[in-house]
Amino acid sequence: MIEDMEFVVQKYGGTSVGSLDRIRQVADHVASTRAQGVNVVVVVSAMGEQTDDLIAMAKELSPNPPRREVDMLLTAGERVTMALLSIALHERGLKSVSLTGSQSGILTDENHGNARIEKILGDRIRHALSDGAIVIVAGFQGVSPKTKEVTTLGRGGSDLSAVALASVLGASRCELYKDVDGVFTADPRIVPGARKIAAMPWYAMSELAWAGAGVLHARAAHVASRFGLAVEIRSSFKPQVRGTIVEPSTELDVAMSTDKNGMEHALVHAITCKQHMCFLEVDTGTAEGDATGNLHAGILESLWHHGEAPVINQQSSGTMRFMVTVKTAGVIQSELSAGRMGSVPKSTKISLPGTAAIGVVGNGFLQSPETVAKAMAAARKAGTPVFWDVRNQVLTIGVKDEDSGAVVRALHDALIG
Ligand code: ASP
Ligand code: MG
Repeated sequence: MIEDMEFVVQKYGGTSVGSLDRIRQVADHVASTRAQGVNVVVVVSAMGEQTDDLIAMAKELSPNPPRREVDMLLTAGERVTMALLSIALHERGLKSVSLTGSQSGILTDENHGNARIEKILGDRIRHALSDGAIVIVAGFQGVSPKTKEVTTLGRGGSDLSAVALASVLGASRCELYKDVDGVFTADPRIVPGARKIAAMPWYAMSELAWAGAGVLHARAAHVASRFGLAVEIRSSFKPQVRGTIVEPSTELDVAMSTDKNGMEHALVHAITCKQHMCFLEVDTGTAEGDATGNLHAGILESLWHHGEAPVINQQSSGTMRFMVTVKTAGVIQSELSAGRMGSVPKSTKISLPGTAAIGVVGNGFLQSPETVAKAMAAARKAGTPVFWDVRNQVLTIGVKDEDSGAVVRALHDALIG
């Protein structure tokens, strides 16, 4: 690394590198960042929808392709982009080098398709930086030191690659370039009056991402908050326009100082929604014992493999209830009845399919009953809630899929305005 220079990590998502023209524009922006005297590591996604296309090809050959081979296939997508971007940078007279996840020393567990990062070595990146090069790293991929196999981090995982690299390499900030302008108070396609949030704290971004806001990979939010990284989410189509800054500090609750309801009032940052959910109810027949414990552990692990982070609650002494997508519920149900998670439960049931889980993300709901009551009234007026989960930083409300737009608008109106 050129020592006395500032250092940033920039990440460009699929749409931002979706064509050669887009790659040229990205190269221009990287070049202009570099011209300001900044060390740059760039993390790229596969071009456009390429990851989906590759998965579709694999599925044409086999309904159940080996996970190892799927990872080999998918990691090729990011490799194409990184080499093309590096070529474009060379064409602009800049020194640059592209590296795969494995060459960058991104070490993961051996779980193909949804590997977790264990450690980042980053030696080759550091050397290349100190050599004055711009380093392009393939997002969404790593290598398992145990199996020596190439792995992928789960769909949308290049956000995670970027924040993990920025954290470990000590970048002063991480810029995530997307096809949206930043984080909004709600999806503007659902709530036309939704506003771009200038700055927000990590706890809120993390809750928002887990509650389904697609703007940031949830695991990336976790890593960034854990390492206290400053991240900016912005549009690659308007590189000069400020996006949303997400920082560790809760003092960034700008609303706090201006909240007309007073400084002790609950804050509401944003509202998001996950559709096509249901409740998977698993009755083990008994609440206690190793068999139940193993069963629950198996379900939790399988949910993780499916990329689900459900709201979970115990319904009765023997019954645990998981709020998951209908698709995952079906898969888990058949895995359970095939005994693939230890013992076979006494019964499983999928209830309320076609439910949307709305997440209201804020802070201080537990000390602000009037805010919770206001949310309840708004949701009840616009739909028929079937589920409530109240925590200090997120309210989860289950309503019918078809009512979810109206309920999100009503909540936005009542709580954000
Ligand atoms: N190309 C991968 C995907 O589409 C990774 C990413 O876009 O972040 O899931
Ligand atoms: Mg992609």
